[in-house]
Amino acid sequence: MEIKKGIAVSPGIAIAKPLIIDSEDYRIPKRSILPSSKTFEVKRVRDAFKNAAAELETKASKDAVADGKIRDIFAVHLRFLKDKSLRKKVTDLVFNELLTAEYAISTTLRDIANHFASVPDRYISERATDIYDIEKRLLQQLLGKKREDVKHINREMVVIAHELGPTQTAGFDRKFVKGFATDAGGRTSHTAIVARSLGIPAVVGLEDVTRNLDPSAVVIIDGNRGMVIIDPDETTLKQYQQFAIEFEQLERELDTLRDLEAVTRDGVTISLLGNIEFPHEAEIVLDKGGGGIGLYRTEFLYLYSETEPTEEDHYNAYREVLRVFGGMPVVIRTMDLGADKFTQSQRFVQETNPFLGLRSIRFCLQNLVMFKTQLRAILRASVYGNVRVMFPLISSLHELRQAKMILRDVMEDLEDDSIEYNSDIPIGIMIETPSAALTAGILSGECDFFSIGTNDLIQYTLAVDRGNGHVSTLYSGADPAVVSLLRSVIHDASKARINISVCGEMASEPEYVMLLLGLGFRTFSLAPPMIPEIKKLVRSVTVESCNSLARKVLLMNSEREVINYLRNAAMKVLPEVF
Ligand code: PEP
Ligand code: MG
Repeated sequence: MEIKKGIAVSPGIAIAKPLIIDSEDYRIPKRSILPSSKTFEVKRVRDAFKNAAAELETKASKDAVADGKIRDIFAVHLRFLKDKSLRKKVTDLVFNELLTAEYAISTTLRDIANHFASVPDRYISERATDIYDIEKRLLQQLLGKKREDVKHINREMVVIAHELGPTQTAGFDRKFVKGFATDAGGRTSHTAIVARSLGIPAVVGLEDVTRNLDPSAVVIIDGNRGMVIIDPDETTLKQYQQFAIEFEQLERELDTLRDLEAVTRDGVTISLLGNIEFPHEAEIVLDKGGGGIGLYRTEFLYLYSETEPTEEDHYNAYREVLRVFGGMPVVIRTMDLGADKFTQSQRFVQETNPFLGLRSIRFCLQNLVMFKTQLRAILRASVYGNVRVMFPLISSLHELRQAKMILRDVMEDLEDDSIEYNSDIPIGIMIETPSAALTAGILSGECDFFSIGTNDLIQYTLAVDRGNGHVSTLYSGADPAVVSLLRSVIHDASKARINISVCGEMASEPEYVMLLLGLGFRTFSLAPPMIPEIKKLVRSVTVESCNSLARKVLLMNSEREVINYLRNAAMKVLPEVF
């Protein structure tokens, strides 16, 4: 039996055999070889090309009859694999620069993909995906076939990977994928967020869980305590089977709160909304007792399909959500692409510091055709419900004004085309950069609502990558710097009399919700499966006690002091959850 400790990101217990998979965005580290190994390394490159081509030819002969389109794709891939100049480029890198076969292949093919991706013609830019597939095929030859493809799972298992992208996670079939664990990752990475939304137990930041893992081992994923147990002894296995039963019982009990109001013991009503990534989750929010959508992460529309969504794709997705919610609020966040969420073509445009780069509203303001397509769809849908539009990652007033100007342009276009829309659509922004938090008083004068994205606000305030397991202990909403910013933003929002909510993961963690209530927040938006637990917490506390808790926290100087105090307080209120 082996126990590994990581970061708990999605609660629940999963017990199954592992599926060790490849990662979509696995980056090959740059490593050098000794001059004496270069002939051997060049041979590895040649063999990889030869064997990948042979494998593809066999596959093509089997699948060709089925679909002409597939045959065409295979033919293109084969041409690349047999292209002598491409192979020479790679072997030159190995021979002249003394780089590993893996790195030479990866860097050469990603350069080509980048080149394709930067061509404005969409047909050509989308070919970057083909290059990516070829790279993957070649790397598989070099790295071995131990890694499998998650798309073909047809039995219950837990997924074990070095790293998973949010798109990959969103594609998991809940019926078969019982849980997952990764070497990399942090608590508020988008992969973790998707896991919580799907209700899949998950542990990340395990460092080396993929190393030497025997595919026939039994693996326990404990998403509550952040542990992975490999080959448990009989006592541990039985104990965990019991934990799993108890966890399901607790979930069922919490679900009975569905139709009860989220009201504190001293009578203050709290609004609990849902965060969603896909339209079908709207039903789940309603099912869990949510009163609307506080954050619709629309960028997932781009992540899930091979081609970029059209205006109709956007419009249909928004209509689907609105059909579920009638007059309840639905906050549609404009696409938050970049950093760790990419369009098919953008995936290859590498940035040195992607979280500080062309991300989110910045990406939209530089890709106006795409941005306007989405805004047009949001506005068209706005006549069918209580739609609010929200811009992510605003970091200055200038940016907010630019985004609003584009929105107004789109409104004018719709008027020219005599298409109906809600001209009073509320416009909000996410407060997720320290600059936005510190200028909230100014920004509040030019928008209708704020939603605090604590996931990003914490990472940018503390300079800690939210998805990096190596620094995850430094990432905390209990840091006095974060608490102080939260207090200052709610103060500015109240002064300007605009609505404010919290939609980051802090809103789904009992210990933080007590603090947020005490700071004055009354609206929370969270992953649908977490709504019942937070409702239970709300119904168990008084605002008065939360106020006093917040007052004490505001006098504390260290993160440790704050988090210990908050955990103790929450444990007293909801012992069954801890
Ligand atoms: C946040 O940053 O807190 C947030 C809700 O947005 P996302 O997690 O999608 O970045
Ligand atoms: Mg964010």
